[in-house]
Amino acid sequence: MENDIDRVLWTEEEISRRVSELASEISGDLGRTSSPTVIVGVATGALLFLADIVRKIDLPVIVDFVRVESYGSGTESSGSPRITSDVKIDVSGKHVVVIEDIVDTGNTVSCLISHFKSKGAHSISVCTFLDKPARRRVSVELVGEGKFYRGFEVRHLRQDHMKQSLYPKILECPDYFVVGYGMDYAEVYRNLPYVSVLKPEKYT
Ligand code: 5GP
Ligand code: MG
Ligand code: MG
Repeated sequence: MENDIDRVLWTEEEISRRVSELASEISGDLGRTSSPTVIVGVATGALLFLADIVRKIDLPVIVDFVRVESYGSGTESSGSPRITSDVKIDVSGKHVVVIEDIVDTGNTVSCLISHFKSKGAHSISVCTFLDKPARRRVSVELVGEGKFYRGFEVRHLRQDHMKQSLYPKILECPDYFVVGYGMDYAEVYRNLPYVSVLKPEKYT
């Protein structure tokens, strides 16, 4: 698998440090209130991030999952996400923290926020490991005292990368399409423990 990697954007150590910081922020913010907290992981991409962050959140949280489908096998969103598997927990009156691998156009988390809002959540926060604000199409409207937590921002292609012109296809996007730490390309590479960009010839 390592032969397919062009470069690593965030190492295991960097990820671990940042996840600890996010977990303390969340523990501090939600530890002050009396309503229960439900941590909702968005399958499958949030798998590793969820497992890491819940171990560092110092609160008696409930953990559940949703499944949302909007992506094909490529690097572009199909646009309209659908919830194909809902939470088992009744979120009414509870703090909901949606755990995502990456917020791109914002369609997926916005769909989940309106879903949990209609189910009567007390507050809705989003905690995303990565954020691509440059590609946002819909603004993410949180609920109640809900907050937007993010691990790292995926920035535009670096200058040196542009010069090499290695990415004729990806250069059309303002940022990297990343894999690893739960994130896939055509369902592969989720088990890489770091976040990376594949060699150009791997994106077909
Ligand atoms: P949105 O609905 O915000 O456009 O898309 C969110 C979803 O798109 C993410 O949860 C993720 O599954 C997928 N996505 C967006 N950017 C990337 C990326 O760079 N790499 C991977 N593997 N998935 C991405
Ligand atoms: Mg996701
Ligand atoms: Mg995907």
